[in-house]
Amino acid sequence: MALSKLDSLYRAVILDHSSHPHHHGSLAGKTPLILNNPTCGDVIQLTVELKDGEVKDIAFSGSGCSISTASASMMTDLVIGQTVQRVYELAENFSRLVQGQQVEDLKSLGEAAFLSGVAKFPSRIKCATLSWNALKKAIEADGFAQEILSCHEE
Ligand code: ZN
Repeated sequence: MALSKLDSLYRAVILDHSSHPHHHGSLAGKTPLILNNPTCGDVIQLTVELKDGEVKDIAFSGSGCSISTASASMMTDLVIGQTVQRVYELAENFSRLVQGQQVEDLKSLGEAAFLSGVAKFPSRIKCATLSWNALKKAIEADGFAQEILSCHEE
């Protein structure tokens, strides 16, 4: 069946990211933002370098299940070079995806789109969104949130 083949491809991509996470570690001189997901026990430590309203570099560490680790790894690939505003859009798209809602620009999510199957396991949704929530909090902590709010108000 094509569907089971697709499922195993999804699993392989997720497993690859969780066993060999990209951008793993921490950026020198940056204070990590630490966020946990008590439902599963996942903890992420995220360091982000923002410059001129863009994500210049990002790294994560911590301990989490394969879904949270894979999701963080996929996210780091996706957000480097993106504007803060775009990161918020991608975070929203990703959140919709893992909750089983329709996403118009699925390609924009890159390999993170492979996590769509999480929608079938509601208890794991927070595992998948942990890294994205950590990134939004890190951006807010950096003082960019106010800028975004005022953009939307115009
Ligand atoms: Zn988890």
